[in-house]
Amino acid sequence: AKYVYRFSEGDMGQKDLLGGKGANLAEMARIGLPVPPGFTITTEACRAFMRDGQVPPELRVEVTMALREIEDTLGRRLGDFHDPLLVSVRSGAKFSMPGMMETVLNVGLNDASVKGLAEFSGDERFAWDSYRRLIQMFGKTVLDIDGELFAGALEARKRAVGATSDVDLTADDLREVVTAFKQIVLEASGREFPQHPREQLEMAIAAVFGSWDTERARLYRRRERISNDLGTAVNVMTMVFGNLGETSGTGVAFTRDPSTGHAGIYGDYLANAQGEDVVAGIRNTLPLAQLETIDPTSYAALLQAMRRLETHYRDLCDIEFTIERGTLWMLQTRVGKRTAAAAFRVATQLVDENLITMDEAISRTTGAQLSQLLFPQFDADAPKELVTTGLAASPGAAVGEIVLDNAEALERTRAGADVVLVRRETNPDDLQGMIVATGVLTARGGKTSHAAVVARGMGTTAVVGAEALDVDLDAREVRVDGRVLRPGDVIALDGSTGEVFLGDVPVIDSPVMRYVSDGLEAGLAACGDEAMVELLRSVDRVMTHADATRRMGVRANADTAEDARRARARGAEGIGLCRTEHQFLGERRECIERVVLAEGEAERGAAIEALLPLQRDDFVELLDAMDGLPTTIRLLDPPLHEFLPDLTELAVSVALADADGGADLRDVALLAAVRRMHEQNPMLGLRGVRLGLKIPGLFALQIRAVAEATVELRRAGRDPRPEIMVPLVGSVRELQLVRDEAEAILAEVGAAAGLELALPIGCMIELPRAALTARRIAEAADFFSFGTNDLTQTTWGFSRDDVEGAFFADYLENGVLTISPFETLDADGVGALVATAVSGGRATKPGLHMGVCGEHGGDPESIHFFHDAGLDYVSCSPFRVPIARLEAGRAAA
Ligand code: PEP
Ligand code: MG
Repeated sequence: AKYVYRFSEGDMGQKDLLGGKGANLAEMARIGLPVPPGFTITTEACRAFMRDGQVPPELRVEVTMALREIEDTLGRRLGDFHDPLLVSVRSGAKFSMPGMMETVLNVGLNDASVKGLAEFSGDERFAWDSYRRLIQMFGKTVLDIDGELFAGALEARKRAVGATSDVDLTADDLREVVTAFKQIVLEASGREFPQHPREQLEMAIAAVFGSWDTERARLYRRRERISNDLGTAVNVMTMVFGNLGETSGTGVAFTRDPSTGHAGIYGDYLANAQGEDVVAGIRNTLPLAQLETIDPTSYAALLQAMRRLETHYRDLCDIEFTIERGTLWMLQTRVGKRTAAAAFRVATQLVDENLITMDEAISRTTGAQLSQLLFPQFDADAPKELVTTGLAASPGAAVGEIVLDNAEALERTRAGADVVLVRRETNPDDLQGMIVATGVLTARGGKTSHAAVVARGMGTTAVVGAEALDVDLDAREVRVDGRVLRPGDVIALDGSTGEVFLGDVPVIDSPVMRYVSDGLEAGLAACGDEAMVELLRSVDRVMTHADATRRMGVRANADTAEDARRARARGAEGIGLCRTEHQFLGERRECIERVVLAEGEAERGAAIEALLPLQRDDFVELLDAMDGLPTTIRLLDPPLHEFLPDLTELAVSVALADADGGADLRDVALLAAVRRMHEQNPMLGLRGVRLGLKIPGLFALQIRAVAEATVELRRAGRDPRPEIMVPLVGSVRELQLVRDEAEAILAEVGAAAGLELALPIGCMIELPRAALTARRIAEAADFFSFGTNDLTQTTWGFSRDDVEGAFFADYLENGVLTISPFETLDADGVGALVATAVSGGRATKPGLHMGVCGEHGGDPESIHFFHDAGLDYVSCSPFRVPIARLEAGRAAA
């Protein structure tokens, strides 16, 4: 294998092999942007390293070749005592993992080359500062030495000479710091700091490979659903320096505002600094636009490069750059992360600029982003007490108790509290706290600080750089303008304005929610400002195109007329699942109990008779709400135990009553009946079609209620479109028995009313046997609806009610699962059964109508699977209907 690619060799299509950063560096080099010379070591080398525990031997040779080429081009040698070549060594996986893995800068410096650097730069202080940074980073990341030791030694030096900040240290001070750092390395690692440049390079490369597998990197990947097997590439790049005085600097730029999507110049700049200083949020940055006055030539060059990148990638890009004594260098670019609002805005802007098509525009937005926009916002009219204002880094309205660290965040969220993590600044060690927090607030850092980038990626509300905050971990308090806040105090963050309020501020629907529920006019009326109006128009364009593009229909799972109306308003084109058992929970539970426990036909007949008017009214309401649209009504599918009294409780109360002088005879009889019906495994027991066949008259009642409701509505001039669905079918015979019964009832009710009632009769496919025998089952079915909840349960043999808490955490940790199969369809296993059933069903009936009504019908990834599998529609909860519309459109685009 070839393990090393020069920047001039690769391109942006090679993210698997070169990682995102490496592929984009190569692309920039290819289109002529100023990238410092360097090369990328492939992810394949990392995988070999993980497999064998050492770097592949060929890699050394390839690195030598690539390095020598750079040396020859530049006329400098790595770590030379005269004008040395120095390199940075950075990780770069296929998917960006901000701050998760390691970087070592200034590789090549040693006791001799530090003098060469001083000579070349004419700045002795700079040279020694670079050297101490190398030892510090190398010590921490490569040699695994506690970073506090270095920070402590640096502080000690500052104290000794009365310096308040790093920049007050002289070259001589820094030389002393270097001596101290080398001593720390010796004591903590048992070896001298390696002087040989090549040894430094090799150790740094191995350390970057190793950083792929740290605990925090694994945690991040689990959350982002990134496979642990990918490995990271390593980018070795000639160092350029942003800290060579005031004509140098470093920054981050976005071609459009990543939080709102506005076109314009966005970013942060720090003069006389190295890149890590910006990202770490240690010093507060200047808005990028100020670079225009500081260094107009570099600014113009940067703008040109940004325009070039946007045209090339046809998307919002973010960029890291360094200016070394007036020369611009591009250190990184990628298609930039952005907020949900920016995703929609940028997509339609690019359409208007003729850079992308509407099909591309819908692919650039996601259902997950849409769902973020549906989140509530603060009520603008509610009284609020402003505490302070920071930068709006990640939108949303977050209300929660203050917590100051991971441990507190975890403890309070476990206790059920919403928390806001308040930190001076965040770093990757704070990830756990950020994951559980509803909001993140920091005192330091710009819009590109760690806190901002990570929060945006997670969709967590964040306000950063609220400089008035003084976060005092020792005193466990936060001081702000004379006020003292403590853990447990409730604050509210507005991630769209950067405002921080005291106390529990009421939240209201977002205008996007108004839009999806009540239409464009209502949404526009709810907009507070012009930016919101523009966002809403973008969302509307994207949704309109998604609706026009998608092949699959979108229905909703709804059990009541109210849910049905809500779903319909959000664009549902029918009901894919009405769970009729839900109509018998609560007060009506006893009605079913009486049917199930009835002794003798007369008693049962009476119990069923009592149900008929209730059911008919339910269906009239539901079908009326869905007038003109298909409404799939599923016959009863209760696991029995949900309707019967709890066996243990009943047994205890009868026993107690007995001891008290005699239990009620009715209760004794009930107990006997419940005992008789008791099941060890109710989910695999007498439910669905089995119950319907076991208890004569039960399904008949429901079918009659549907038929009579239909007649009633048709007589009233309405257009009811019920479909009757049989649950938990495993054999065609089961379905045929119910079908025969249903057809007889429909014919009878129809004849009595003088109407033809040819309602579609179909079944759920939610057992492996149903999927495997779909060819036969289709003979008796007018449609199929995949019940992927039960199908997942029965395919894996996972109890859907128990396993998530029991061992999924372990399974996610050890990689058996990357996500719960109840959330995202297991395409390999359950999906194979879906595919089998689709082809089986259509072999018997070519046009057989098929949909899905399990939870997966609202899950973006699964929706793409169902599209590819050829289903006709998905059905999901009313809230997810707009998300499903968008994803079904994206799947077809
Ligand atoms: C299913 O099993 O996927 C389904 C939709 O039915 P229920 O969730 O009601 O069992
Ligand atoms: Mg089911």
